[in-house]
Amino acid sequence: MRAPRFDAAIVTVPLGVLQAGDIRFEPDPPNLAAARQLVMGPVARVTLRCKEAFWEEGLPAAGGAKVAELSFIHARDELFPTWWTQYPLQSRLITAWAGGPRAARLLALSDSGRTGAAVDSLARATGLKRNEVETSVEGVHHHDWASDPFARGAYCYVPAGATGAVRELAAPCEETLFFAGEAADTTGHTGTVHGAIASGLRAAAEAMGSRSPTGELRAESEKTGTNPG
Ligand SMILES: Cc1cc2nc3c(=O)[nH]c(=O)nc-3n(C[C@H](O)[C@H](O)[C@H](O)COP(=O)(O)OP(=O)(O)OC[C@H]3O[C@@H](n4cnc5c(N)ncnc54)[C@H](O)[C@@H]3O)c2cc1C
Repeated sequence: MRAPRFDAAIVTVPLGVLQAGDIRFEPDPPNLAAARQLVMGPVARVTLRCKEAFWEEGLPAAGGAKVAELSFIHARDELFPTWWTQYPLQSRLITAWAGGPRAARLLALSDSGRTGAAVDSLARATGLKRNEVETSVEGVHHHDWASDPFARGAYCYVPAGATGAVRELAAPCEETLFFAGEAADTTGHTGTVHGAIASGLRAAAEAMGSRSPTGELRAESEKTGTNPG
C-alpha cells in the first residue's frame, strides 16, 4: 500500500520530541538546527493526598493562624520550593513543584526518595513536625514529563544567546512545512498554553495563506496564471 501524500504539514510535537529525532524528516529542514538551540526544561511534581487538609487548621509557620484560603506556599530554600492547594476548591490535595536544577536532582531519585523529599520540604515550609506531615499522607502521585516519550521534558525555554532560534524554528520551510507548539511561539510567550495556541493559529494562517482552496501552492497557481478558486 502506498503511503498517503500531503501538500503540507504542521508539526506541533514538543521540542524534546523534535530534538530526540523521534520524527524523521528527509531532508532535515533548517528548523531542526534552531530547535537544537532551545532547551526543554525538567519539572518534578508530586501530589500528596492527605487524610485531611491539615493546612486549614493552622500552621506554625503562619503563627498558628488558620489559613483556609491557602493557595500557594513559596519556600525558596527547599528542594520543592513551590506548593499549591486546589483552593478555591475544598480538597485534601497539595502539590509540590520544582523546576530547573532542583527538578533534575529530584528526578534522579526513586519515587519513594522524591516522596520523602516532598514531606521534608512541606514539614519545614509549614513548621510542622515531619512525622505529622508523613502520617497525614495517604496517597502520592508522581508526574515526570522527562520520561514520557510524548513529552521528553516539561516546558521549553530560550537559553542565553539563542534569542533568534524561536523565529528560525517558526519560519515556514519551502511553504510546505510549518512548526507550531510552545517552542515555536513568536509572540513572546514560549513555554505557555497561550503561546502554543498563538503559534498554532500562526502556522495555520501561514499554511492556508500559501495554498489555494484546492490545496495547490498559491505561488504555483499565480505563476501559471490559473484561478485558485
Ligand atoms: C507542570 C507544568 C505546569 C505548567 N503550567 C502552566 C501554566 O500554569 N500556564 C501555562 O500557560 N502553561 C503551563 N505549562 C506549559 C504548557 O502546559 C505547555 O506550554 C503547553 O501545553 C504546550 O502545548 P503544545 O501544544 O506545544 O504541546 P503539547 O500539549 O505537549 O502537545 C504536543 C502533542 O504532541 C503529541 N506527540 C508527542 N510526540 C509525538 C509523536 N512522536 N508523534 C505524534 N504526536 C506526538 C503529544 O502526545 C501531544 O498531544 C505547564 C507545563 C507543565 C509541565
